[in-house]
Amino acid sequence: MTRTDLLVVGGGAMGSATAWWAARSGRSVTLLERHSGHHAHGSSHGRSRIFRLAYREAAYVALAREAYDLWRLLESESGAALLEVTGGVDHGSPASVAAVAEHLGAAGVPYSLLSPAEAGERWPALRFDGDVVHQPDAGRLDADAVVTTLHGEAIRHGADVRFSTVALAAQETPYGVAVSTTSGPIEARVVVVAAGAWLPGLLPSLPVPDDLPAFRVTQEQPVYFPCAAGVSWPSFIHWRDPVAMYGLAAPGDGVKAGEHGSGRVVDPDAPRPVDAAAVARMEAYAAEWLPGAVPVATRADSCLYTSTPDESFVLRRSGNVVVCSPCSGHGFKFVPAIGRRTAGLAAAG
Ligand SMILES: Cc1cc2nc3c(=O)[nH]c(=O)nc-3n(C[C@H](O)[C@H](O)[C@H](O)COP(=O)(O)OP(=O)(O)OC[C@H]3O[C@@H](n4cnc5c(N)ncnc54)[C@H](O)[C@@H]3O)c2cc1C
Repeated sequence: MTRTDLLVVGGGAMGSATAWWAARSGRSVTLLERHSGHHAHGSSHGRSRIFRLAYREAAYVALAREAYDLWRLLESESGAALLEVTGGVDHGSPASVAAVAEHLGAAGVPYSLLSPAEAGERWPALRFDGDVVHQPDAGRLDADAVVTTLHGEAIRHGADVRFSTVALAAQETPYGVAVSTTSGPIEARVVVVAAGAWLPGLLPSLPVPDDLPAFRVTQEQPVYFPCAAGVSWPSFIHWRDPVAMYGLAAPGDGVKAGEHGSGRVVDPDAPRPVDAAAVARMEAYAAEWLPGAVPVATRADSCLYTSTPDESFVLRRSGNVVVCSPCSGHGFKFVPAIGRRTAGLAAAG
């Protein structure tokens, strides 16, 4: 039986950041990932995720600021380039745009408010729907590079990172928690479960409270559109009902754009064919709102959202088990801050 201070189940962005932070703090850490170190089955793959400080809620603005400093820390310690600042814009629903401006202003985050004509002159690749909030510190995170860097940094600080190893079930013991895995049992003082879309399926086998919010796992499908070289794309959120749109530059692929949370409910282990109707909706959107793109998708990604009803994150400790599920389609920008908080929660008491 292997013994460790902290066992982290799930080597996507959240589990890897937790392992990195805990190992960096001097704890003995084991990280289990059922797939390889670089896979496209979960939520953390691909080259582009939006980083933004602009939110309609003050708490997320504060968390994004914390994360910004930690992204720079991770870059400086690892030597990897992870966050490219491109600026970001929010437009669409006036109430949402006003809420974003209000919370940026209240937090003292620099931003400017532009008319659609002013914004169109500045970013001719986009067409704008009402007033526009521009936040210059937004940008793009290279998700694949982030996960690889976190694995590397966790290992450099002494973590035992095991790929192709599945955690099967857990039970409390006098020492902490015993976890059966495909490579034998592991006993830990504390277990963090950061299993993404597989978390809901694991819950019945875990000693956790039954009052966690309902999780909904959906297949989301951003697409890529070609565009002329040199076109400037800020990351963008277009607030619309019932589904907000988002997009950002995808170097080598043009621009990536997607619907936020419109996908169908899926089993994370089932095959995920491309949803042709969703591609057609995105092409119609690009034809109307993205004049800088050729509105014919060159490819589609398949990625899983694990969402709670109000899109808030779940980070809860119960006994010696910590449940870590910051997704709902907007967790990536906060990864190093979530890793620090989760490692802190696991170390408490
Ligand atoms: C299409 C899409 C676009 C997004 N865009 C943005 C964006 O622009 N900005 C933003 O901030 N956020 C964005 N997000 C959200 C963000 O990507 C997620 O919040 C984040 O990736 C969640 O990471 P995770 O570690 O929780 O899940 P995952 O990356 O899925 O990691 C969970 C890991 O656990 C492993 N695992 C599962 N079960 C077991 C087991 N039993 N044993 C061992 N390992 C196990 C899985 O293989 C997986 O690697 C987007 C998400 C998607 C899907």
